[in-house]
Amino acid sequence: MSVVKCFLLSWIGLALGGCGLPPSSTDQSPIFLLAPYVGQGNGLALVNGTQAIVFDAGPPEQGGLSEALRQAGVDTIAAIYLTHPDLDHWGGLDSLLQHFPVRTLVHGPVDPSREASTFHWACRQILSGCSTTWNGQSAVYWDDLRVDVLWPDSGQTFPDDNQGSLVLRTSRRGHGLLLVSGDLDTLGEQIVAPSLGSVEVVELGHHGSRSSGSLAFLGHASPRWVIVQAGVDNSYGHPTAEALGRARAVGAQILQPTPTKNVRLEFQPDE
Ligand SMILES: [Zn+2]
Repeated sequence: MSVVKCFLLSWIGLALGGCGLPPSSTDQSPIFLLAPYVGQGNGLALVNGTQAIVFDAGPPEQGGLSEALRQAGVDTIAAIYLTHPDLDHWGGLDSLLQHFPVRTLVHGPVDPSREASTFHWACRQILSGCSTTWNGQSAVYWDDLRVDVLWPDSGQTFPDDNQGSLVLRTSRRGHGLLLVSGDLDTLGEQIVAPSLGSVEVVELGHHGSRSSGSLAFLGHASPRWVIVQAGVDNSYGHPTAEALGRARAVGAQILQPTPTKNVRLEFQPDE
């Protein structure tokens, strides 16, 4: 049985319609996934009442994620997870920090020589600062929403940032809701695939590039929906027909936010 009560593609400005207004508290509130248009990058959130958990912050000077969260009634960000230190995944931090108090920021391994040029400047503005995470660690929010880290292992280093992208599985009472994997490549996907477990929603890896969203990865996750975040007419050709074809091959419905439409999926509170 699906935990998804309903979904809609909301016109920007009407993001609170369709599935009902979010309650003002987090007690037994429905959790919904908000995937706005952020241009060529990743940035989406799970929202419960007035709080959000953010998975990647979007590219710089775009602001789509902050605006969507404000329209949804969010006033606090409980956590920001950054999958990897590429600008199209953390550049929107500035906008998030301008508009919301952020309790904590969690990221994967970062080359210390690059720290000064990445997102670490933001840690001073975050209430509990930043922390590094790796495979086997987890956190629980709102009493029953769990985020498990499935990749990479502690101490692993990679020649390419994409290869070290965090793989994060969110579940509630054992039921998989959301899987994000940043720009992880096919090799990493194949290693982590057997440990995924099924989820309702997968964010298609690397914006739907040819080398992500492998059949092994998507097959193990067995999502009902696949969300793709990519810029309109981007120069990379994302999302590729190959990646979209693989998503369809595992039976998923594809949802892609556009400059005029956000994606919102609501999960029932009693499952
Ligand atoms: Zn990216």
